[in-house]
Amino acid sequence: MTDIQTLVQNQKTMFRAGKTMTYTYRIHQLQKLQEMLNRYEPRIYESLHKDLNKSSYEVLTTEFGFLQQEINYTIKHLREWMQPKKVKTPTTHKGAKSLIYKQPYGVTLIISPWNYPLHLAIAPLIGAIAAGNTAIIKPSELTPYTSELIKEMITETFEEKYITVVQGDKEVSQELLEQPLDFIFFTGSVNVGKIIMEKASQQLIPVTLELGGKSPCIVDKDAKLEYAARRITWGKFVNAGQTCVAPDYLLVHRDIKQPLIDHLKKEIEKMYSEDPMQSGDFSKIVNDAHFDRLVSYLDQGKIVYGGKSDRTNRQINPTLVDNVDWTSKMMHDEIFGPILPILTYENLEEIHDHIEHSRNPLALYFFSENEKKQEWAIKNISFGGGCINDTIMHLGNNQLPFGGIGTSGIGKYHGKYSFDAFTHEKSVLKQTTSFDLAFRYPNSKVGRKIL
Ligand code: NAD
Repeated sequence: MTDIQTLVQNQKTMFRAGKTMTYTYRIHQLQKLQEMLNRYEPRIYESLHKDLNKSSYEVLTTEFGFLQQEINYTIKHLREWMQPKKVKTPTTHKGAKSLIYKQPYGVTLIISPWNYPLHLAIAPLIGAIAAGNTAIIKPSELTPYTSELIKEMITETFEEKYITVVQGDKEVSQELLEQPLDFIFFTGSVNVGKIIMEKASQQLIPVTLELGGKSPCIVDKDAKLEYAARRITWGKFVNAGQTCVAPDYLLVHRDIKQPLIDHLKKEIEKMYSEDPMQSGDFSKIVNDAHFDRLVSYLDQGKIVYGGKSDRTNRQINPTLVDNVDWTSKMMHDEIFGPILPILTYENLEEIHDHIEHSRNPLALYFFSENEKKQEWAIKNISFGGGCINDTIMHLGNNQLPFGGIGTSGIGKYHGKYSFDAFTHEKSVLKQTTSFDLAFRYPNSKVGRKIL
């Protein structure tokens, strides 16, 4: 195996040779990536099932299908995105043309987490290829089957000096961060995000950080409760709550708390049956440490639904917890599991302080039929992105930039935004040599316009 330093040097040489920059090359590589996913489709389902017990339905909708859509969209629009963009030139610059060139960064590093291990390693790679870079992927060590499969697929499909996978834990990650990289795309926790940014700052390497946080889900008293309950149930319990944009906790108007809980119970049973862990395809918790952390939350309130857990299979059934205190550990940590705490409010203004307590959420969901209140939430609360009367679905529209703000991340991607994330916009002014404007030079009279 090539050592990390040599690997980066080889990629630098490849990038400098210019091959990755042509339109034909990029399109061809995107097609190869697509063929690779199709070729390995059955093994992708198998490895995600082994790592996280993901159902075929979830793999199709949240991993495989998402990537197919992103690749198709990128192939369709790449030529247009690559063109230098002509912009206006002020009269003070008469005779010149102004252009923005789309420049790839060079050697890029993609560090990905375990919760959507295929999606979160390959979606940024689509941006890296489209923008004309080389790439090194460091997948998560916590999903060994999928990470090994990613390595096998990439090794078979691409030259190492163009795209490669380096497996390992944080030590390997840190060794990669010591290298003279040109761009880092990191998806993971807030704490590790800080480490990545600190490391990158030593070499002033630009970064995109896709992080996490506590995403509130607010249900106001005029919301349509049946729809709200169905959409919250889906968004919270997909992948057993191990989703960066899952509704972390429920903030419900006190007058409708009980009817909402009743609806939620019905929807959970409709979607996952009365005992999901018996169904065979409810996702499991990634490891024992996360399982134990989640189970420790179960005595931090009154369980009004669910609560069953099984350490041998690392599964926890969808659980609703009432009477939760803002000061509890569960309301401090990002939950990242199938446990939904329920808190109440009386006036919208009062929730503002509560949400601010966990800094900038990655997502916010607001259920209400009242447009004024919807606008109030959108304008007054800081969050990366979100939905009105839905959960998670904003992530699936590649016309919308996906990313956090402040503690939930820096930068954005998906669709054209992925191309932009891996691209430096290089400003170029092309000056005429047919004449010159005198007034910009010292000691020239403003009246004498042209030399
Ligand atoms: P993590 O931060 O622990 O690990 C992410 C990656 O960083 C892994 O590849 C890991 O090996 C590496 N890493 C871990 N410690 C490191 C260190 N000290 N130095 C360098 N690299 C290190 O995150 P995780 O537990 O894999 O994923 C869960 C977190 O990711 C949650 O907080 C979740 O909200 C967030 N997340 C965010 C998004 C998003 O798009 N914003 C998507 C998925 C997950």
